Amino acid sequence: MIPMVDLKTQYALLKDEIDAGILAALENTAFVMGPNVQAFEQEAAAYLGVKHAIAVANGTEALHMALIAAGIGDNDEVITPAFTFIATAEAIRYVRAKPVFVDIDPRTFNITPEAIEAAITPQTKAIMPVHLFGQPCDMAGIQAVADKHGLKIIEDCAQSFGASIDGKQTGSFGLASGTSFFPSKNLGAYGDGGMVMTHSDDIAEQVKILRNHGSEVRYYHDVIGFNSRLDELQAVVLRVKLKRIEQFNAGRRRAAQLYSQLLADLPLETPYEDGIGIHVYHQYTLLSDQRDAIMAALQQAKIACAIYYPVPLHQQKVFADYCAGISLPATEAVAARCLSLPMYPELTEEQVREVVGVIRGVVGV
Ligand SMILES: *Cc1c(COP(=O)(O)O)cnc(C)c1O
Repeated sequence: MIPMVDLKTQYALLKDEIDAGILAALENTAFVMGPNVQAFEQEAAAYLGVKHAIAVANGTEALHMALIAAGIGDNDEVITPAFTFIATAEAIRYVRAKPVFVDIDPRTFNITPEAIEAAITPQTKAIMPVHLFGQPCDMAGIQAVADKHGLKIIEDCAQSFGASIDGKQTGSFGLASGTSFFPSKNLGAYGDGGMVMTHSDDIAEQVKILRNHGSEVRYYHDVIGFNSRLDELQAVVLRVKLKRIEQFNAGRRRAAQLYSQLLADLPLETPYEDGIGIHVYHQYTLLSDQRDAIMAALQQAKIACAIYYPVPLHQQKVFADYCAGISLPATEAVAARCLSLPMYPELTEEQVREVVGVIRGVVGV
C-alpha cells in the first residue's frame, strides 16, 4: 500500500515536538490569534523574504482577501490558467471579477507571458499565476507583461511553498500572494490554514482588518470583513514543520529525481523542469497515452494515483455561461493525459522502485 501522501510517517517523526507544543497551547488557552500565530507569521515572513505574512483560515480566503486588498472588483478581468484547482477562480469570482482563462505551456503546465499578453483587454486588471505542482512560473516574463500594461500580480502559491527563483521565494514576486496550509500541501497543517504574503504595508493592513470582521479596534468596524483567522493549534504544527521545510522539499525533489531516472526509457513524459526556478514537487505528474491502463495496474497493486486535473476550468459547468466554445488546446491535451504519482518527502527508494515497476509492466517493451 503506497498512498498519495503519507501524513502518518511524518507525524511519527515530529510527534514529540508537535504534541508538546499542542499541550502547551491547550494550557495557555489563547486559541485564536495566540502567540504561536504571531510567531509563525514572523517566521514565515522571514523564510519567504516578504515584509508581511498574515495567517488566515485557508488558502482560498487568502486569495480572496488578497484580491480585495489589491482593489480588484466588479467586472475587472483577471488572467489565470484553466489548468488549476477551482479555488484560484473561485477567489476571483468572489470579488465579482471575471477569470480569463489562458492556455499553458504543455511541458511545465504553467501559464506563459505570451499567452497572458494575448489575453489582455481594457478590462484586465490583474494576473493570477499559479505555480502549479510546485514549479515556479516565469515571473520575470510575467512581471514584464504586468509592468508594460499596468497590471497587478497576485500569485497563487498554494502548491509552491519553498519554491524559488534565483533565491527569491514564490509569494515574494507579486503585489500580494496567497498560499494554503491544507494538510497535503508542501507545508501542511492538521486542518485548514492559509496565508497572505505582501511587501505592501497598505495591503497587509487591509488583510489584517478583513480577516478579523473588518475591525482594527475591537467592536469598531470599518469595512465588512470575514472570520478568517488561523487557529493557534494549527500554528503550533506549522511552526514545527516550517523549520524543516527545506529538508521536506529536498526529500520531494530526491524522490522526483529517482522517478524520472527510472522512468526515463519508457514511452511517457516525465515532469519537465524548465530551469527557471526550483521545483518543489507538490505533485509528480507525468503524461501518458496509456493513462487508464497505468491507473488500473497501480490500483491493482494498491498504489495510489490521481488525475490533477481531469476537467480544466474553462470546461466546468460553473463557467459555462461565458466559456462555452473556448478552446485551450495545450490545457485540454494535458488534462487528457496527466497522472500524478505518490509524492511526499518520506517516500523511500524502495517505494519509488515499486511504483515504477508497476508502470513498466504496463508500458515497458
Ligand atoms: C489548495 C489550493 C488552493 C486553496 O487552498 P485551500 O487552503 O484548500 O482553500 C488554491 N489554489 C490552488 C492551486 C490549490 O492547490
